[in-house]
Amino acid sequence: MKEPLIFDLSSPGRRACSLPAFDAPAKPLTELVPQDCLRQHDAELPEVSEIDVVRHVTRLSQLNFSVDTHFYPLGSCTMKYNPKINDRIASLPGFANVHPYQPASTTQGVLAAFDLLEQTFCAITGMDAFTLQPAAGAHGELTGLLLIRAYHTARGNPRRKVIVPDSAHGTNPSSAHLAGYQVVTVPSNKQGEVDIEKFREVLDEEVAAVMLTNPSTHGVFETHILEIAAMAHKAGALLYYDGANLNALVGLARPGDMGFDVVHLNVHKTFGTPHGGGGPGAGPVGVKKSLEPFLPTPRIARNAANGALSWSYDRPQTIGKMRTFHGSTGILIRALTYILAHGAEGLRRVSEVAIINANYIKKKLKDLYDDPFPQACMHETVLSAKLQKKQGSSARDIAKRLLDFGFHAPTIYFPMTVPEALMIEPTETESRETLNRFISAMRQIAEEIAHNPETLHNAPFTMPVTRVDEVKAARELDVNFVKRNV
Ligand SMILES: *Cc1c(COP(=O)(O)O)cnc(C)c1O
Repeated sequence: MKEPLIFDLSSPGRRACSLPAFDAPAKPLTELVPQDCLRQHDAELPEVSEIDVVRHVTRLSQLNFSVDTHFYPLGSCTMKYNPKINDRIASLPGFANVHPYQPASTTQGVLAAFDLLEQTFCAITGMDAFTLQPAAGAHGELTGLLLIRAYHTARGNPRRKVIVPDSAHGTNPSSAHLAGYQVVTVPSNKQGEVDIEKFREVLDEEVAAVMLTNPSTHGVFETHILEIAAMAHKAGALLYYDGANLNALVGLARPGDMGFDVVHLNVHKTFGTPHGGGGPGAGPVGVKKSLEPFLPTPRIARNAANGALSWSYDRPQTIGKMRTFHGSTGILIRALTYILAHGAEGLRRVSEVAIINANYIKKKLKDLYDDPFPQACMHETVLSAKLQKKQGSSARDIAKRLLDFGFHAPTIYFPMTVPEALMIEPTETESRETLNRFISAMRQIAEEIAHNPETLHNAPFTMPVTRVDEVKAARELDVNFVKRNV
């Protein structure tokens, strides 16, 4: 299973393509490129044939776990199967081959698709307007918080603080900080929900926003959400909804109806875009009417007389552009395809099955693994390996051992409020047979730990790479082949 580096496959003079002989009039290079920009010696690139590249990359891809090959219950990441029809539609030349500088008169189809997607997101979330611009979830959060800052500033005081529960995804406090706010943490209660009394204590006239994930990263629904919203609004704060994992609610409930003023969605989790390794994605942001004037430019505008769509920059209160051009077109088209292919009924089914699957796993494992929040969960369940820890194995050992059974590990050690957390999100796309195989593996691992916890310390046993020093890998990153050989 060992795959050499592509450099080690190199053979002098071997090429992956054949170009016709160079027949343009030859000019000295120094005339074309300034002397100090010229290479002193040839680039040390691997010299390989096309089939060498194809086989090398294909073999590498098979050393990895992926949604197309393995069950991937990585909590909060929603690693579900994404129908290939999404890719097919996004590859249509009218979507794939347009250039952002093309005149709008030649890209009416893309604009109409964006316009429809904005309206669809409004209908799904109960918001009044959407921007498709942000590049990912965290980028959507930053956009949302800048909108909130602009809103408060227009009222005379941007305010200083943002309240974030202790269970929040790490991007929430980071985004609040980036937007210039002081982060105030509010603890969770025993049920894993926001502690209302503690919330009351930190809520004051300097709070610009309350950022909530509902269901929270504990996998549980905030049953006091209406009360929280009323309290926040009474203090003049806005309510921000982290909708990365809307597959818990889509078609069942709408953040707009719960009192949220700003939401972001991760289309690369909920709406059918494959993701991993950092992208690509999109984090559309929706707002209530009062925040609409601040949305990033350009906005889609429709000419009332002839219905033609165009990009409008004429928005005096805008926070400006959040990224180059108009958004991750290919990703957004995939999301629209996914939504239209499912329809309202299908989307509701997505959430229902995601919730049923998570609860099924929870029920089948709670006799062996600690279940910190015993109420029914939403689209994911957070268990704890604290009993196994007492026996000498950790959440990390369990995660590593699962690989031997052919399962990607769940998220571990997050949320940080739960010791030895195992955050399991099966998603709606898995069959009962797959869930049962995963449950058996988890039960067998619990048995192994009870009888012989030592064996797990060296797991996985069947992978091409076993335990790596994760700290060293991050601190002493070295991906330079040439340097390695000096
Ligand atoms: C994934 C996730 C984010 C961040 O989304 P990115 O697209 O990775 O930036 C934020 N909040 C929650 C709850 C998430 O699961």
